[in-house]
Amino acid sequence: MPETATEAVFSQNENPIVIGVSSCLLGEKVRYDTGHKHYSYITQTLGQYFTFRSFCPEMAIGLGTPRETLRLVNRDDTIECVGNKTESLNVTADLIKVAHEQRSWHADLCGYILKKDSPSCGMERVRVYKGNMPERVGTGLYAKILMENFPHLPVEEEGRLGDPILRENFIKRVFVFHHWRQMAEQGFNMHRLTDFHAQYKFILMSHDQDRTRKVGARLAEASKQAISEVAEWYFAELMSILTIRATRKNHVNVMQHLQGFLKKDIDSEDKQELSDTIDRYRRQLLPLIVPVTLLKHHFRRHPKPFVERCKYLDPHPSELMLLNTL
Ligand code: SF4
Repeated sequence: MPETATEAVFSQNENPIVIGVSSCLLGEKVRYDTGHKHYSYITQTLGQYFTFRSFCPEMAIGLGTPRETLRLVNRDDTIECVGNKTESLNVTADLIKVAHEQRSWHADLCGYILKKDSPSCGMERVRVYKGNMPERVGTGLYAKILMENFPHLPVEEEGRLGDPILRENFIKRVFVFHHWRQMAEQGFNMHRLTDFHAQYKFILMSHDQDRTRKVGARLAEASKQAISEVAEWYFAELMSILTIRATRKNHVNVMQHLQGFLKKDIDSEDKQELSDTIDRYRRQLLPLIVPVTLLKHHFRRHPKPFVERCKYLDPHPSELMLLNTL
């Protein structure tokens, strides 16, 4: 049984968090050379928390294995996907069509992990040829339609998941997206929206303090607007702010703010220890998990209902160790 509200969101039993994944990353032999690109972090680590839905657009349009490799070309400022050897093999329309056809199951996803560099699946910096000169300016055609149809969906490439900051950011967005969806299923009202914002305010502050303050102010004045409009606007802001890199400076501000809630509860020695720990994080001598754990320790001994509900100290399962790098 989950012990806290936070753990309930992580639970896979009743409401799995479904993530789309390029099939080859799960070890399916769908590559042009009949091979795969199994990425064990996805299957072995993320697989403990997420349910995967795999899809290979090139197999779905009937190319089969083995097959000719594809590339993106710029023809008169139009991006097309053609055979590397056989330019008359043009699968542009097929890839776009098959991407739109997946819309119904895409709508159930809370995130998507794409294969980098692929002319079908690549999220960014895919080679586009103009003549023989490639430039890394493209997006795979399947990925492009996916992201156009679902602009707020957390999307990442397996290569970028190797970066601790990008990995933490993607996984956090997936959990937030899933939580939002759970709330949407219950139906929106102003109380639920303001409560949701209270839970995520400090996380948002760690990404962008100014925008978070503006969102809070607008939310406070939004009670006369149609709830569907407010929810749509808020969700777009929420997901947009979360894509901004969280900064050390913002984390320090948030933690000092949280420390303020403890000022009547802890003695001067504990206050000094907490301040020093936050400062050592600021100076890049400690990972974020250290001051966060110390704050959690104090809030366990001196519970504050407001802080208990906010996600900042528990944004994702601690076993993923996403706050543990310097
Ligand atoms: S990158 Fe995409 S299109 Fe290529 S093999 Fe993997 S899933 Fe299929």
